[in-house]
Amino acid sequence: MAENGLITNDRVKQAMLAVDRGHYCAQSPYQDAPQEIGWSATISAPHMHARAAESLLPFLHANARVLDIGSGSGYLTHVLANLVGDRGRIVGIDHVQGLVDLAKGNMSRSEAGRRLLETEKVQFVTGDGRRGWAEGAPYDAIHVGAAAKEMHQAIIDQLKAPGRCFIPIGSGEQYIYVIDKDEQGNISKNKLFGVRYVPLTDQKYYSSNYSYADTLH
Ligand code: SAH
Repeated sequence: MAENGLITNDRVKQAMLAVDRGHYCAQSPYQDAPQEIGWSATISAPHMHARAAESLLPFLHANARVLDIGSGSGYLTHVLANLVGDRGRIVGIDHVQGLVDLAKGNMSRSEAGRRLLETEKVQFVTGDGRRGWAEGAPYDAIHVGAAAKEMHQAIIDQLKAPGRCFIPIGSGEQYIYVIDKDEQGNISKNKLFGVRYVPLTDQKYYSSNYSYADTLH
């Protein structure tokens, strides 16, 4: 990916190299493609994780607080943990308990991952990410790994000033937005590029009428 310009930052390259994607997805982990992880969810393609990490990087300070909404496999949560210092904290939140358990299990497959969980540098919690996760707020950086219908105010409210949120928004066409909150609390939105993410939605959507064909991006 670095050779092909899909990773441009060396810290992000090292952070991704330090995580075996094979611990986080069962099939074709080393292809640049999303993969099914069960519960109608997918692990995003590596190039999307790289874009997200590179976008949030200026806010991933040594002591940063980070929220990964729709943490799914837990892969990006692990990469984000590698980009902050020992006193940084990452919360991964997913509304499917099975995926929260999966993420913990995936992370436990390496010694480095087990240490992240034991030290609580990484915490996986179950809940509706549209409400953010108030217990850990405010956050320097928030990543949203599922497409929101709108920019949820709770997520904006839980951003630090300054802070940055990387979020796919849209129900038909979806676009990545980078939402910045400056030191004074002013919000600016930057629309980047079109994507296909699974929706940030109610849990029942996932257990019933969801098709894998819609999950690829
Ligand atoms: N970043 C993850 C993406 C997983 S797919 C990865 O690369 O592995 C999107 C995830 O969003 C799914 O795990 C799904 O369960 C979760 N999700 C969807 N709606 C949600 C909601 N309202 N609250 C929390 N998680 C949600």
